[in-house]
Amino acid sequence: MQGRAKFIFVTGGVMSGLGKGIVSSSIAKLMQLSGKKVSCVKIDPYLNYDAGTMNPVAHGEVFVTEDGGECDMDIGNYERFLNQNMLKTHNITTAQVYSKVIEAERRGEYLGACVQIIPHVTNEIKDAIKRIAASEALEIVVVEVGGTVGDIESLPFLEALRQMRLEEGSDSVMFVHVTLAPSLEVVGEQKTKPTQHSVQELRRIGIQPDMLAVRCKKELEPDVRKKISSFSNVELKDVISCHDAASVLEVPRMLHSQGVVEEIFRKLGMPAQLSRSEEWSEWDRIVESTKSAGGHVRIAMVGKYVKLADSYVSVNHALRHAGSKIGRLVDIDWIDSEELNGNLERLASYDGIIVPGGFGERGAEGIINTANFARERNIPYLGICFGFQLAAVAFARGACGLQDANTTEINPQTKNPVIDLLPEQKGVSNKGATLRLGAHEIEVSQGSLAGGIYRSDRISKRHRHRYELNQKYIGEFSDKGMVFTGFSDGRRRAEILEIPGHRFYVAVQYHPEFNSRPGHPEEVFEAFVKASVQK
Ligand code: GLN
Repeated sequence: MQGRAKFIFVTGGVMSGLGKGIVSSSIAKLMQLSGKKVSCVKIDPYLNYDAGTMNPVAHGEVFVTEDGGECDMDIGNYERFLNQNMLKTHNITTAQVYSKVIEAERRGEYLGACVQIIPHVTNEIKDAIKRIAASEALEIVVVEVGGTVGDIESLPFLEALRQMRLEEGSDSVMFVHVTLAPSLEVVGEQKTKPTQHSVQELRRIGIQPDMLAVRCKKELEPDVRKKISSFSNVELKDVISCHDAASVLEVPRMLHSQGVVEEIFRKLGMPAQLSRSEEWSEWDRIVESTKSAGGHVRIAMVGKYVKLADSYVSVNHALRHAGSKIGRLVDIDWIDSEELNGNLERLASYDGIIVPGGFGERGAEGIINTANFARERNIPYLGICFGFQLAAVAFARGACGLQDANTTEINPQTKNPVIDLLPEQKGVSNKGATLRLGAHEIEVSQGSLAGGIYRSDRISKRHRHRYELNQKYIGEFSDKGMVFTGFSDGRRRAEILEIPGHRFYVAVQYHPEFNSRPGHPEEVFEAFVKASVQK
């Protein structure tokens, strides 16, 4: 590493949901394309220790890292933009920071001092960020602060970042503030007041932003840009228009064309460096492939958390990565499995059916019927985690005649527990970070469909589950045509099932969606979308 790391702090104003994660990922991408060793960190000021216990319909999906972190979904954006794995330390929460401080206090490390937010909590926040920079030898760390300026929870974090600017120097730390310039339907004029107010709020706590990323529908008007610049005390060239784009992957180019790279380099005192054209052309090719589609493919995603598309965000992306690779636009209809019973026929019009992860009883019967429907009607089916488990239950009932087959997650008394608790889970009562998590190696049977899809006899995939296939049933299943072609932990866990002879019927216990990247779709997604296209 040349010298110390530089830090880019991204804060949010006005309201949530402006795409701070995309702005942060895009800035990091620009740094990466300029040859810098960069990574991202997400600060979540909420009191949960991690995202694992949060409802996906309210907060979006739980993104699982290689090392088994249950993280905020922005970590997924960073991984996809940078094509780089993140460790769970990259998602810092209030609970983690306070736990560290309280543990240190209990060990007597503060030597009698009164333990306070400033300096003890703020020091721990700064240390957590600096530890990542040092341990990964990063040149640039982009740190995104969750929430909106003015939230009580984010105050200690913003205070820590303010201190960091003072301590590290203004050529090592810069602040990018993401705001909104809404246009009113009737007049169509872009309004600057919300931005003015949110910059004022930031300044009130001692932070002057160096750059503003202004979200707007259409490109920021020149006079609006001027007004924002003068009221927020941010140079005109640092007021960046982040207007709506067809794909989030277009945002790095949008920022680049407004001189963002040169400005960041100048502010952080780094020698101007030319972007590496090879990497840029690869990135442009990937962005282009999301647009140049030769037709559509219609996928039904049947699940429980369909009320918010973000609750399956990585699955959505993985399907689209696969579509782009084979030149198709993937149209996804999210279907609530609870509302499906009695109306299964509507699934017949889709090119493929996917069942993503889930928990609990609600909507489970709808998923079981969906898995049977796809099997009987020869419609391509991809099941993920819960979609794997319920495909096994559906097969036990529909093909093996075990009418009461179930997972013990739903019916602990079933006579045919086709899916049962992982043995090490017996006696575990805490819900946080106690599932089987993170990357595990899987042996794939050669000569199987999965073997052909992965072209390898060993793969490593991420997990998040408490239940697994009861291998007692494998013989009965295979007699009736469902085979298990992937195992982990010395064959103790079944990981992949398939039905030879079906157009495409594959389900996996792991979560392949977390490994899918733009331009590099995860293999089973690619195979599923391909099969859905072929009639
Ligand atoms: N509820 C199931 C289990 O815990 C599946 C989990 C999931 O789909 N992520 O094993």
